[in-house]
Amino acid sequence: MLWHGHVTYREEIWSLGHLAAEAGSRKGEKGLKLLNSYLVIMTIRVVHSTSPRLSHNKFNFLKKVIAEFKLNLVYVRKLTDNRTWRTFDIIWRIFRYIIVKYYTIESPSLMHSNVLQRWHERLGHQDKRHVRDVLQKCGITVKYDDTKSFCDGCVLGKSHRKPFNARQERAKSVGEIINSDVNGPMSMNSYHGFKYYVVFKYDFSRYTRIFFMKKKSEVATHLQTFLNEACTAGHRVKIFRSDGGGEFNCARVHEILNKHGIQLNLTCPYTPEQNGVAEQSNRHVVELARSMLTVSELPLMFWAHACDTATYLINRTGKSSIPNKAPIELWSGYFITQKAYTRKILKQFGMEDCNPMKTPAESSTPTDASTDIDALNKEIPYRSAIGSLMYLACATRPDIAYAVSRAARSMSNPSTSDWTAVKRILRYLKGTIDLGLNYTSTGRELCAFTDADFAGDVNTRRSTNGFVSLLGNTAVSWMSQLQRSVALSTMEAEFVAGSEGAKELIWLNRLLTEIKNKTCTPTLYIDNASAIKLTKNPEFHKRSKHIEVRYFYIRELFQAERIKVEHVRSEDQLGDMFTKPLGFDKFKSMCAQIGLSV
Ligand SMILES: [Zn+2]
Repeated sequence: MLWHGHVTYREEIWSLGHLAAEAGSRKGEKGLKLLNSYLVIMTIRVVHSTSPRLSHNKFNFLKKVIAEFKLNLVYVRKLTDNRTWRTFDIIWRIFRYIIVKYYTIESPSLMHSNVLQRWHERLGHQDKRHVRDVLQKCGITVKYDDTKSFCDGCVLGKSHRKPFNARQERAKSVGEIINSDVNGPMSMNSYHGFKYYVVFKYDFSRYTRIFFMKKKSEVATHLQTFLNEACTAGHRVKIFRSDGGGEFNCARVHEILNKHGIQLNLTCPYTPEQNGVAEQSNRHVVELARSMLTVSELPLMFWAHACDTATYLINRTGKSSIPNKAPIELWSGYFITQKAYTRKILKQFGMEDCNPMKTPAESSTPTDASTDIDALNKEIPYRSAIGSLMYLACATRPDIAYAVSRAARSMSNPSTSDWTAVKRILRYLKGTIDLGLNYTSTGRELCAFTDADFAGDVNTRRSTNGFVSLLGNTAVSWMSQLQRSVALSTMEAEFVAGSEGAKELIWLNRLLTEIKNKTCTPTLYIDNASAIKLTKNPEFHKRSKHIEVRYFYIRELFQAERIKVEHVRSEDQLGDMFTKPLGFDKFKSMCAQIGLSV
């Protein structure tokens, strides 16, 4: 998705809503309609551009175009003919800028249309009562509750057949039963030439995957992809249920299911009530897609994009087997967040309505407290804010660990600029309330990254230790703290950080061995070659004789083969985000690499 990654669930709903329905309903203009992750139809208007590249290209225009996002390229076509008009590479970001700009200009008017009907359109024409519940959960209140009034899109887009009553045995956990169904051939080929689609739906979480096809026989390939995804997400599929159509009842599908030890449960063809769950899901997707197409007045050839968008919306805002849980929340198990606690902190410190920030700390220059003599007003609850943030940083939010640790250094004598830094953390949290740790059952064995920011603390010249350990691609423990004494070189700072990290790693490994009853030799990654040399090399080293003896514990662990020590390139050093403030792109990438997601 265009804005995927750093935005929160709630913001994403906002964005989806804005793109999907809002701009199209503005006076006399049909534009900016989102129909899936890759294709945007919009009227672009760049009011003013700060990018020299843009002005150089004379990019100021007002045009209705189709922008297609493929890998890092953007293909822009005019709506009138299907030929690619321009292709951009790094423009991805610039495009986002344009859209953001577009929002900023238009958003005041959007605020006034905060009625339930509009949200109902934004969320793909799902049931209005349900939409109201979703909004309530996200803390969005609608001004005018028109639950009972008609929606043109729904009247035209939804059939009135009663849902089938026949229900079979339902799954009791996320992966157990999968329902599947194929729909097509459609009356018109899609924009990309598709004729059919297949849906796979988890019975319990109701998480749905949709794949578009030119031929029915492609089902087997998509089934394979789907099962791989299920496996990565840690789900064990037991039963695969579908109708007995030839595309399912074939050697290739049997073979794939056998390989995964999955029982195939075929219902009779032409009696869709037996395969009720997938049929209903299929119809739900089609109805929402049809309603969206109707309201947006887009040609039918965009049915695949509309179905894709409908599935996307249903997974994030639709109903699941558990009240107040979206399908995707149940699907991605083990997901740990502290949304309620984060909201509570924001409210407590009067930051509920603040403007969100994209990173928790200023990345340019570190604050030098000694140059800022404005002592903070004693009334301001600095200590209490640090306490609350510290709890969050230790439990589920490694992304704020560095910023909080830095702010905590001024706890005894905070200045006004320290308070600004604390508020920045809160503003960052405001924009990332839904971020949490996503644990999966697959991925790498226990490992850790340690890093040091040499003499980074401007007041004491002490270095900062950064540590993060991962299990299955998700952070299990982390820390960001000042070293106890001043290191004399980068090598020394890195060596000390490595030694501190090794202690934590040994402790974690012991814990894991007890739980899993299986031993492994965890790996410690360090980016400083000299520090690694000092770890591995038993000879006397002139530059290291002043280093405290206890830090040589890491050497002992390495020699006893209780840990492995490996070099990691600086750009892959995940400990980086625990030692210094990073720019947005790097920060976002590191957050994803330690398993933080929405
Ligand atoms: Zn509707």
